[in-house]
Amino acid sequence: MSNYTKEEILEIYNKPLMELVFEAAKVHREYHDPSKIQVSTLISIKTGGCPEDCGYCPQAARYHTNIEKNDLLPYETVMHMAKKAKNNGSSRVCMGAAWRNVKEGDDFEQVLKMVSGLSKMDMEVCCTLGMITESQAVRLAEAGLHYYNHNLDTSEEYYKEVISTRGYNDRLQTLENVRKGALKVCSGGIIGMGESVEDRVGMLLSLSKLNPQPESVPINALVPVEGTPMAEERIVPSWDVIRMIATARIVMPKTTVRLSAGRTEMSTEAQALCFMAGASSIFAGDKLLTTPNPGEDKDTEMFSILGLTPTEKVKEEDCNKFKIRKSTVEAEKVKWSRPGHKIEKNIEAAAKAKELRQKLKQEQ
Ligand code: SF4
Repeated sequence: MSNYTKEEILEIYNKPLMELVFEAAKVHREYHDPSKIQVSTLISIKTGGCPEDCGYCPQAARYHTNIEKNDLLPYETVMHMAKKAKNNGSSRVCMGAAWRNVKEGDDFEQVLKMVSGLSKMDMEVCCTLGMITESQAVRLAEAGLHYYNHNLDTSEEYYKEVISTRGYNDRLQTLENVRKGALKVCSGGIIGMGESVEDRVGMLLSLSKLNPQPESVPINALVPVEGTPMAEERIVPSWDVIRMIATARIVMPKTTVRLSAGRTEMSTEAQALCFMAGASSIFAGDKLLTTPNPGEDKDTEMFSILGLTPTEKVKEEDCNKFKIRKSTVEAEKVKWSRPGHKIEKNIEAAAKAKELRQKLKQEQ
């Protein structure tokens, strides 16, 4: 958790740009290898038809957009897509499903099978499936999931201008459930939705106050899509993206800051400043769920020009953390297994899970 106040974060955000980038670059070099960028691939495993009303999202059923909807993809298709992504240099795969929340049943079982299959590919695995409960987080971790993504999107104050079908506290509750499931947290937001600078800073404040801070923070620039309420928003200047990344880097020094949606509107030079300011991950492929993204060839060329290399695979230290997480999950499993278990057994398991979670926290 950081001790920065909103005023202090605002001051950082508003520094002269070159000074801000320089300060962020110093922090970045202290905690990260500046020559390495993690290449991630986002696979939309279930597209469109979502009952939520996120104003930026073409997948909401209530907006008339021309996305191609699909039900949950077959297991084999997802494995094939992930293998292809790995061969193209991705070391991380994130599966996204347009759901309000995860419902128990065949679809969730199928997702668990996918997570299990992907985790055997020596890649980092992340999911974004909407709201989840603590026991679902435990089951995902048990299947081999490393991260769960659930964005705060914007500040608490501005949230209701963007989404009305759920509240900020619902988001925070899911993040808490993710933590209780001993999963790593991936949570960030979107700029360019008509919010003020104070709202951007408010979002960074909320993220930096999480304890522990999220291991991963994606910073997205809105890609306005026809048919959504935000279709007419203007394209975010690259300078704003650079400021957001630099400020995130300073207030959350150990976090992986991900330069996410909106890269098609950015020059190589602007993206270079983002990497300098602390971004250490991008998403590959010509689509990010449903919106455009630079193709792999363009990124390969950019990496070559900038002298950057993709991170290869899950780091050894992450494997150790994963082992501890596995043990935590085992303990959680007993805690959650109600019928046929003596209550003492559940209490014992809960204590064990708590102890292991603390160990995991220290490792982080
Ligand atoms: S962002 Fe997610 S929850 Fe919101 S409408 Fe789109 S798919 Fe649904």
